[in-house]
Amino acid sequence: MPSTVRTLELPSGEAVPVLGQGTWKMGEDRRRRTDEVAALKLGLDLGIMLIDTAEMYASGGAEEVVAEAIAGRRDETFLVSKVLPTNASRAGVKRACENSLKRLSTDRIDLYLLHWPGSVPLSETVEAFETLKREGKIRHWGVSNFDTDEMEELVGLPSGSNVQTNQILYNLSRRGPEFDLAPWSLKRGIPLMAYSPVEQGALARNARLAAVAARHNATAAQIALAWAMAQPGVIAIPKAGRQEHVRQNAAALDIKLTPEDLAELDRAFPPPTRKRGLEMI
Ligand code: NAP
Repeated sequence: MPSTVRTLELPSGEAVPVLGQGTWKMGEDRRRRTDEVAALKLGLDLGIMLIDTAEMYASGGAEEVVAEAIAGRRDETFLVSKVLPTNASRAGVKRACENSLKRLSTDRIDLYLLHWPGSVPLSETVEAFETLKREGKIRHWGVSNFDTDEMEELVGLPSGSNVQTNQILYNLSRRGPEFDLAPWSLKRGIPLMAYSPVEQGALARNARLAAVAARHNATAAQIALAWAMAQPGVIAIPKAGRQEHVRQNAAALDIKLTPEDLAELDRAFPPPTRKRGLEMI
């Protein structure tokens, strides 16, 4: 068990853990459900209280898995869910949120994100989020897959600066955001939530990471996570359906990468030298 789960502050001042649990691909297969629920429960036991889900995952099925995992411990959990851009109108957001609340068996979502930018005017979605906040159905809202220009537009809107996070594809093999989005976000105190932090499992099989891992008696996946969590203002949300992976991910909180490790990782995965558009999975 990690000694403590480090936290960082949302712009609202609320502390959230720098490690969360992803749920994409959960809820797709009834036969895996018991294992998925057990994995999420173990994560909560180990102090990983932030769970990330979305109405899109398994068409709501992942939210139902989450409901089962958090039963009886809702108050300890920080629940993140997302609305699809096709549901981002005033009426659509309200309906989507109510459906998510039902599937999650709860009366509020802690952080509700627009899954990616769409065609509904952003100002309308922000207004809808603010209404949900006033009604107590969500506590905070944020966005996902927003590049720097989209964040600029957002914070220029009425109430736009209430955004609490931007969830993006960010890991050692996807360092593009470090060029401008990460410094922009850090300057404004808006945390980034790094999704696919082990590149959907690919970094767990990376030989360069394995070399660093050997020095820490750790695995390559743990080094990828330790690196992501060492970045300022970053929350990593790996998905683990296996309990062994959950244990390893929690233990990654205790890995302290040395300057030599970081230099070696920079050589293997060079930081960006020019602007690239934000990638998405
Ligand atoms: P990921 O977390 O990078 O990778 C998940 C894969 O890595 C699974 O196959 C998992 O295996 C494996 N894994 C996890 N921990 C491991 C460990 N310690 N050692 C070896 N393998 C390990 O990819 P992801 O699921 O795409 O991203 C994480 C979460 O981010 C998602 O679940 C979702 O909540 C969110 N997300 C958001 C967006 C967005 O557009 N906002 C997009 C993608 C993802 P097992 O499951 O078998 O344990």
